[in-house]
Parts: sequence; structure tokens; C-alpha cells
Amino acid sequence: MKTESGKLSRRRFLKESTAAVAAALTIRRPGLARGAEKELSRAGVVVLLGPPGAGKSEQSRRLTERYSIPAISTGDLLRDHVRRGTPLGLQADSYMRAGKLVPDSLMNPILEDRMSQPDCERGFILDGYPRTLAQAESLGALLKNKSLPTHVILLDVPTERLFKLLTGRRVCPRCNRSYNIYFQPPKKEGVCDVDNASLVQRSDDKEEVIRRRLDTYQKETVPAIEYYASQGRLERVNGDQPPEKVAAEIEAKLAAP
Ligand code: ADP
Repeated sequence: MKTESGKLSRRRFLKESTAAVAAALTIRRPGLARGAEKELSRAGVVVLLGPPGAGKSEQSRRLTERYSIPAISTGDLLRDHVRRGTPLGLQADSYMRAGKLVPDSLMNPILEDRMSQPDCERGFILDGYPRTLAQAESLGALLKNKSLPTHVILLDVPTERLFKLLTGRRVCPRCNRSYNIYFQPPKKEGVCDVDNASLVQRSDDKEEVIRRRLDTYQKETVPAIEYYASQGRLERVNGDQPPEKVAAEIEAKLAAP
């Protein structure tokens, strides 16, 4: 359906583009492993909070594999729009390059559409959302009618570690896997262990932009974290340890009744 100006309607555009991203970003499994149904019902919605560089994407990937539920990374959804040069991507790009948050008017419809895809029915992992108090409230409203168990997990990492975690981060443009030249280097320098693609540094992982992102986290996201804490819903995990240990702590939280 085209509008009078010849452009795709915003609704249809979002639907089509988000469905394509969902297909590209979701790790699909041919069938569920034995006992996975039980795992799924236990996982439900997992909201992963934590500062930039805390390892949210690594933990989402592990949770996706463990519980067979999709990981929704708002950063990846936005980067995909930027890469494809969509109208939304063009608008989001300048905010992302500056290390600023993308406005809710762009962010929320993309997320809402992704969450309504069939693969999210039994649960999903949220990586990078909510990032503000307003987003935490929007999410509460969206999840209200889903009746899925929800865990809000904070990956706690000391601020002084984050800078090195971010400047050392390298990502695989093909599979999105993250490495760190200081703490978690690939087997062969500059190359992804899984698919041999050349690793790249994200354009917002530059020193000046990193400072801005950490600042934004303190000002905007910490209030959202305090909001969950004040409701007694925040589950803290020590993010300053090897990824497999972090994963084990998260799993223990999800397994608790
Ligand atoms: P990091 O957590 O390392 O900052 P992300 O990939 O989660 O990286 O996000 C990259 C950028 O995408 C952010 O700096 C911001 O500009 C934008 N972004 C991601 N998630 C959101 C969100 N929930 N609200 C607004 N902007 C977002």
C-alpha cells in the first residue's frame, strides 16, 4: 500500500522491515531439545540491563541458545535499519553516531512490532531496552497483556572497567559476535572464530562517543534501574567475571521459583 506521496505507509513499512530483521537476527532451531518446553516456560521475558560494554549481547546469545527464545537487541534492530538505509535508519543514525539515545517515537514502534512477531509468543530476551524510565513504563504496559513471567536482570560491572571493555570491543559484522582485544580476544587476531569474517570496531566505540554513552547511561538508564529496584524486581548479577560464570548466575536466577 502506497501513500499519496508514493511512500510506503509507516505501518506497513515497519511490519515488513521488522519481519525481515526478525528472520535475520533470530537463531532458529529445528526442534526443541528435550525438556526445553519446561525451560521456556521458566524463562519467559528476560530483561537484561547493564551499562554499555557489560556483555549484554554475549549473555543474550547464550540465553537464546539455552532457552530457545529470540534475543531482541534494540541496538541491532537500529543498526540494521541504518545499514539498509531505511527512513527510520537515516533518522536514527545521527543519534547513534553521537552516542545519544534514539527518540522513543522512532524506537518504540520498532520494538513493539518485533515483540509482536510469532517467535516471541513464549518469551524473549530484551537487550538494550528499556534505557529510560519512560521506556521502562512503556514496557510495563506492553507486557501487561502478555502474561509471561518476567525477570529483570542487571549485569553489574564497575565503571572503571567499562572504558577498556568498550575501547577493546571488536564485533563480527556477519554473526554479531563480540570479542575484546584485552579480555576475550579471538583465536586469530582480527578474525571471527565462527565464520572467519574480519572483525570491526563499531563507529560508536570511539573514545569521545564512549564517554557520552556512559554519561547517558548514568543520567537516563540508572533511573530506570532504580525504578525496578524500588519495586523489588531487580535481580543483580556480577558481570565482572568470565562470561560462562555470568551465564551460570543468570541461569540460577531464572531457575529460582
Ligand atoms: P551499547 O549498549 O553498547 O551502547 P547498543 O547496541 O545497545 O550498544 O546501542 C547502540 C546505540 O543504539 C545506542 O547508543 C543508542 O543510540 C541506540 N539505542 C539502542 N537501544 C536504544 C533504546 N532502547 N532507546 C534509545 N536508543 C537506543
